[in-house]
Amino acid sequence: MQRYSGFGLVKHALNYHENWQRVWRNPTPKKEYDVIIVGGGGHGLATAYYLAKEHGITNVAVVEKGYLGGGNTARNTTIVRSNYLWDEAAHLYEHALKLWEGLSQELNYNLMFSQRGVLNLGHTLQDMRDIERRVSANRLNGIDSEVLTTADVQKLVPLLDCSKRARYPVMGGSWQPRGGVARHDAVAWGFARAADALGVDLIQQTEVIGIRKEKGAVIGVETTRGFIASKTVGCVVAGNSGVLAKMAGLRLPVESHPLQALVSEPIKPVLDTVVMSNHVHGYISQSDKGDLVIGAGIDGYNGYGQRGSYPTIEHTLAAIVEMFPTFSRVRMNRQWGGIVDTCPDACPIISATPVKGLFFNCGWGTGGFKATPGSGHVFAATLAQGYAHPLAKPFSIDRFYSGALIDEHGAAGVAH
Ligand SMILES: Cc1cc2nc3c(=O)[nH]c(=O)nc-3n(C[C@H](O)[C@H](O)[C@H](O)COP(=O)(O)OP(=O)(O)OC[C@H]3O[C@@H](n4cnc5c(N)ncnc54)[C@H](O)[C@@H]3O)c2cc1C
Repeated sequence: MQRYSGFGLVKHALNYHENWQRVWRNPTPKKEYDVIIVGGGGHGLATAYYLAKEHGITNVAVVEKGYLGGGNTARNTTIVRSNYLWDEAAHLYEHALKLWEGLSQELNYNLMFSQRGVLNLGHTLQDMRDIERRVSANRLNGIDSEVLTTADVQKLVPLLDCSKRARYPVMGGSWQPRGGVARHDAVAWGFARAADALGVDLIQQTEVIGIRKEKGAVIGVETTRGFIASKTVGCVVAGNSGVLAKMAGLRLPVESHPLQALVSEPIKPVLDTVVMSNHVHGYISQSDKGDLVIGAGIDGYNGYGQRGSYPTIEHTLAAIVEMFPTFSRVRMNRQWGGIVDTCPDACPIISATPVKGLFFNCGWGTGGFKATPGSGHVFAATLAQGYAHPLAKPFSIDRFYSGALIDEHGAAGVAH
């Protein structure tokens, strides 16, 4: 990475950011690629990086309709954890967490990955039974996970209202110390820079508007800059997955919903872990800059607008104030929304499709950021080999025919 002296910084501040070196190229699309990835979010960029790095496939294009990381990747609240209930999901998310642990070094890019721990609160006896079940399942899978008492929780988060006065008193919680947060857009930029350096073409401001097939196999994509040929196309477009599938004559079991988040004005450090409550329905962490980063569940209606409804904002802030009464005095700075693609079992789809050469990686819903490196890693292997990576196999579209669903509603819920 380029370093500047104090003088260099002043010079660059005054020259209006002119003549800065590009971090990645801005290539003209070639006529044909070995693999086309549609969608330049974290998952698409990670896929391209691992295709080049692990499988030596460098004749790859990432086609992005906007700018890299401009979708959910840079709109999420950045929670990373792997404490899912079922083996299939736990293995996939733990694979991702292990990759996160060395990723800044691998990409030589500071992703600000901070393992500050993730706390899930329990407010009822049933919550606590579910927590104990999930923690036991996690430990059987070798995942760091603990059951905490109310006193443990209060010690960990002094500002949290653990009194009996609370409408839903805290009865305890689950705690994953290796969980945490990362800087979301840095993840996209880190993968983009590394993929570009390996020869991948990152093609921005280019929308895929059609998927061309011949004799039941994909032969390329129609874009706003013309046709680009490829016999292997991986669609990684999150909330737009249904739209892309329709272009290929397919129907996916996903629904697109707005999901909102908010940040407050920056305040002094008061919260050094991530706190989530499925029951009160809100979650919160504090960024390194000092903002409180807040979110909750999806807006109930389907939609493609990257914004959300007022009732959800009101409900979310009511939940935060219920947990942290003192935050009622903090002003909110910004609010935004993304479009998440939710599956009936709250698990992703990483799969081939009935169209030969056409693959989808989608359905991550409210919780795909944490999976970014793992998702890209297993999807790259799936595209390179033409059949599913062992960790991706349970997440095939076929599960919606076979009934082998992996119900992670308990571990997903409001807890992204
Ligand atoms: C408010 C909010 C909070 C969240 N919080 C968390 C969290 O705390 N932890 C967590 O793990 N997950 C969280 N998530 C979910 C997470 O953000 C997503 O699951 C993840 O970022 C998906 O990454 P992606 O690369 O698949 O999608 P995206 O980043 O959305 O990338 C898809 C890209 O495809 C592009 N695209 C779409 N259609 C086309 C087309 N036709 N042609 C070309 N390009 C196209 C889009 O422009 C976009 O850039 C949150 C999401 C939101 C919205």
